[in-house]
Amino acid sequence: MKVLVINAGSSSLKYQLMDPESREVLAKGLCERIGIDGRLTHKIPAKDAKYEFEIPMPTHAEAIQAVLDALLSSEHGVIKSASEIDAVGHRVVHGGEKFACSVRIDDAVMAALEECIPLAPLHNPANITGIKACEKVMPGVPMVGVFDTAFHQTMPPKSYIYALPYEYYEKDKVRRYGFHGTSHRYVSARAAEMLGKPIEELKIITCHLGNGSSVAAVDCGKSVDTSMGFTPLAGLPMGTRSGDLDAGILEYLMGQYGYDMKEMMTVLNKKSGVLGISGVSSDFRDVENAANDGNQRAALALETFQYNVKKLIGAYAAAMGGVDVIVFTAGVGENDAITRYNAASGLEFMGVKMDAEANKVRGKEKVISAPDSKVKVLLIPTDEELMIAMDTAAIVKG
Ligand code: ADP
Repeated sequence: MKVLVINAGSSSLKYQLMDPESREVLAKGLCERIGIDGRLTHKIPAKDAKYEFEIPMPTHAEAIQAVLDALLSSEHGVIKSASEIDAVGHRVVHGGEKFACSVRIDDAVMAALEECIPLAPLHNPANITGIKACEKVMPGVPMVGVFDTAFHQTMPPKSYIYALPYEYYEKDKVRRYGFHGTSHRYVSARAAEMLGKPIEELKIITCHLGNGSSVAAVDCGKSVDTSMGFTPLAGLPMGTRSGDLDAGILEYLMGQYGYDMKEMMTVLNKKSGVLGISGVSSDFRDVENAANDGNQRAALALETFQYNVKKLIGAYAAAMGGVDVIVFTAGVGENDAITRYNAASGLEFMGVKMDAEANKVRGKEKVISAPDSKVKVLLIPTDEELMIAMDTAAIVKG
């Protein structure tokens, strides 16, 4: 079976054609500058080949057509006929409370996705545009929606309710939703496989640390708490996002600088986090280089990030009444040994003992805790596309 995985943004679209059974990625790539001019980067992993094209993409439909043409091309294609694509899996950011798992896309699902737009005004419209473009270019091919929020729908009310007047939840759907769910689900399932234990017997804390970061508590395979909230601004300080903060600061800064809400949100989303504290960069590599050169603010930014990851690990162990496994994943979690080490060290009191040597690894599945550590610490590269392809295959096969 071949599944085309689509992750549509407002002006970009990532794709992978893969076989979810063999897990082979036949081709993958990226359309950029949709609505501006149009650029396609197309890769064939088996040949280690990369192709770049300038193709006009006034809308997402032309972008999908360009992807299809690339997949079918006699020179750099990987399939002979479009009918070889059995299904399309779409990443959708927000499923609200309507979607607790992946679903086959039909008219009712499209209507429900439209209803979720107010919850994710920047992301859901682009995802919907991607779905409509696929319908236009590949009519009749079954499509499945896989939601970033779905995995966290198992959280109990005490985890997701904000201490606000209850009608804001009832009428306006203001609650914690959590994001990165596909990643937290994938790595928690892999953790159980790696350890050869049923996931129903494990308490797992998954740390998805990238440009955007979140931590989740996964008890018996179900998300019971997570650090992102109503929006992906909450929780950890991130590359450019503030993470949690005292809401009173907003009023104070808006008064001090005469910011309107939009300007204030730009500060919180784009100018804060590791970039805000360090003044150097949102990229952890740049911040680490600066810290190594003696930049105190860069060192403080990293320390603050690591400290907040550690606090969440402690909090989620308390929430679950213990922890068996801690997983690190995503750009920082997979590549940055120092951040992993500092976030998980000093937790010997709760049975976590890192192995500094084993931790010297990048982007590979590995146990990075000491052999006598009661809690296993794992590095597991995330694979959201594979998870989307697997869900899509399972739903389409019924
Ligand atoms: P996104 O949230 O955009 O999906 P990723 O999970 O791809 O982000 O993570 C990207 C981030 O990973 C980069 O901004 C960078 O800070 C970090 N990163 C990548 N490689 C390294 C490395 N070797 N050391 C430290 N950080 C790294």
